Amino acid sequence: MKLSTKIILFSSLFMLLLILLVNTSIYYLFQRTSMDRELDELTAEVNEMAGTLKDNPNIPEKELLEAFLPTEGMIRVIDENGDYLVQVTKKYPYTKLSANYSTTEKRNVQSMKNQPDFATVAKPIIWNNGDVVTLQVYKQLTGHASTMETLFYVLAVASFIMLAPTVAAGVFLSRFITKPVQELTETMKANVAGGKWEKITMDRRPKDELSEMEQTYNRMINHLKENFEKQEMFVSDASHELKTPISIIKSYAQLLKRRGYTDQNLLNESVEAINSEADRMQKLVEQMLLLAKNKEDASFERINIVELCRSIADTFKGAYNREIYVDAREEEIRISANADQVRQVVYILLDNALKYSEETVTVSIRQGTPYTFVSVEDNGPGIPADKQKSIFDRFYRLDKSRSRETGGTGLGLSIAAMIAKAHHGAITVSSEPGKGSVFTLRLPL
Ligand code: ADP
Repeated sequence: MKLSTKIILFSSLFMLLLILLVNTSIYYLFQRTSMDRELDELTAEVNEMAGTLKDNPNIPEKELLEAFLPTEGMIRVIDENGDYLVQVTKKYPYTKLSANYSTTEKRNVQSMKNQPDFATVAKPIIWNNGDVVTLQVYKQLTGHASTMETLFYVLAVASFIMLAPTVAAGVFLSRFITKPVQELTETMKANVAGGKWEKITMDRRPKDELSEMEQTYNRMINHLKENFEKQEMFVSDASHELKTPISIIKSYAQLLKRRGYTDQNLLNESVEAINSEADRMQKLVEQMLLLAKNKEDASFERINIVELCRSIADTFKGAYNREIYVDAREEEIRISANADQVRQVVYILLDNALKYSEETVTVSIRQGTPYTFVSVEDNGPGIPADKQKSIFDRFYRLDKSRSRETGGTGLGLSIAAMIAKAHHGAITVSSEPGKGSVFTLRLPL
């Protein structure tokens, strides 16, 4: 069953039940009070009859009672044997109504088939022979019956009149609720079927749970789209980057196959090239894995960043035979970080500085609040201001041919930036073409 049908059905049924309950109560309450009033009136009449009978012993009882006879009714005088001493009525069928000899006053309502009910009052009186007899008067409730009938129709019509706005409100409510849900479903279906990233057009509605749902959906679509595009870009960039070394390796292998067995020089050159391209591929794959792996939570510990930088500088000095100057005012600056990841960042910055410059590289460590700064400065070619943001993008390289010579992959800075972000820090660059660059890693204490 549709949600809108459920809402309409539920609200209408609930309201119908409520109306029926209220109207039935009104009906029965009215019936009781009006019946009581009828019985009270009849009792007064019976009392008057008894008084007149008592005051006029000379007038025959039957005559006297005939004067009191209601148009639609009957009067009986019943002795203790149940015999009728007097019975006056204008309509024969009424004589079928039951009679009871009673020495106490009684009032009740008697029913007759296909007739309105009868109010009955029985009162004990002293008969002319000194016996105690029952004077019983019956009065058909014609006025009461027709009033009750009118009330029934009035209440029935009122119920329907009250129900109409309830159904209308149910329809309005169901539309109000189901419209955004339907839109959302339609948009999701269209997105799934067409591989699209469509969003919901937001109506200018007041802020409520439904508009919040729409907003959340739109934000989710934005987020998914962004991630999907990034992934797609990464995969295409990665495969593109891997294609070059693979085709170089393949062409050298084919060359070897044709002439390599005879030409010693070609053999050496090919093996050298294959080896260096394989190295490049290895580095690329390692860095890509690192990018993927870095999403995991790393454990933090207290590390001495000065000591860490000095040890990296020593390693690089030995490997590259280059001058690296470590400038630290204090020998111990402790921060909370993951040692391996911070080492990786300093490695990347130092590796770039050495790769892209020829003179001394300076690593300076400064403690501030609430951050510690590690800067790597070189006198290389520098980076134009408009490119300084892009160098942190994956696979972005300023000068592709130079980068190839230096074995760059374009992934180093994006890895470094990601690590810094995971440490609630950042990497900034300050550089001017021809004057060198300063890369600064900022880490919270
Ligand atoms: P790569 O592996 O190519 O070095 P990175 O992500 O580390 O990749 O750097 C991206 C680009 O930023 C490099 O290709 C280079 O053009 C530029 N770059 C990075 N560091 C320096 C630097 N110290 N001096 C000049 N250019 C740099």
